[in-house]
Amino acid sequence: MLTALRHFNQVKVLARQSEKADAPFTCPTCTREVVLHKGNIRAHHFKHKPPVTCARGKGETEQHLRAKLGIYDALALEPNVMDLELEKDFGISVADVYARISGTPVAIEIQRSKLSVADICARTANYYKLGIAVLWVGLPDGELSREKYSPSAWERWCHAAYFGRVYYWDSGQVLRAVHFGAHRIYVESTTWYESGGNERSAGGYERISKRYKTPYAGVPVLLSRSFRLARKTAWIGGTVAVPQCLLYVDIQPKWWK
Ligand SMILES: [Zn+2]
Repeated sequence: MLTALRHFNQVKVLARQSEKADAPFTCPTCTREVVLHKGNIRAHHFKHKPPVTCARGKGETEQHLRAKLGIYDALALEPNVMDLELEKDFGISVADVYARISGTPVAIEIQRSKLSVADICARTANYYKLGIAVLWVGLPDGELSREKYSPSAWERWCHAAYFGRVYYWDSGQVLRAVHFGAHRIYVESTTWYESGGNERSAGGYERISKRYKTPYAGVPVLLSRSFRLARKTAWIGGTVAVPQCLLYVDIQPKWWK
C-alpha cells in the first residue's frame, strides 16, 4: 500500500513523502502498525508486519503500485479533476484511485490476481449504491499483442460489463482499450477408411474457439478526457453476470467489426 495513517496525528500520508522518523504508521483498515519501505528500486510503500491477516494491500505487485501512482500523479495535473485521493476507503473496498472527473465521481480499481469475479461484482454493486462510477483496469500483458489470447474470468467479466472493452494501464493516465473478437481455428481435414472399406473424412472447416479470443486494441485513451458515465442494468449472458452498476467507459467509437 502507498498510504498509511501517521499515528500521532492520524493524518493519511504517502509513503514517498514520509520518513522513518515519522513512525509509527498504522493501517487505516486494521489499525495495526505498518512499516515504511523506502528502497531505491521499488516504489516507496507501507507493509503490514507478519503475520498479515488484513486484506488491505494484499496481492499488490510492484507493477500495481506503479500503475496506481502513475494514474494518481497524472490526474493531479488535470484542471477538471477534483477530490483526488489514493487508496480511498469505501467500506467493503478501497479504491486504488478516487476522483471527481468533470463532476463524475469515479473509483479506479486496478485488477490484482487474488480478486475473484465475485469480489469484483460485490465491489461494483457497492459503488453503485454510493453513486460512484467504477473503472476496472488491468495490468498490461505481452500476450495481448498476439493473435490468440485466453482471457481470464475477470477479463471476460469486464468485456461483458464495459460493452465489449477491457481497459489496461499504459502509462500515467493513458489506458488502452482492448476488444476480444472471435478466434477462428482451422480444423484440418482427415480421411480414413472404415473396416468395411468405406472412405470417411472429417474436418476441413473453421470453428470458433471457446477458450481463445483475438485481441483488437483501440487508440490510447485519457482517463480525464476520453471517458463518460454509463448506467447499466443488471445483465446475464452465458456464464457472466453483471449487477446493476455505474461504469466509466471511453467515448471512442467501436473500432472492431
Ligand atoms: Zn491492515
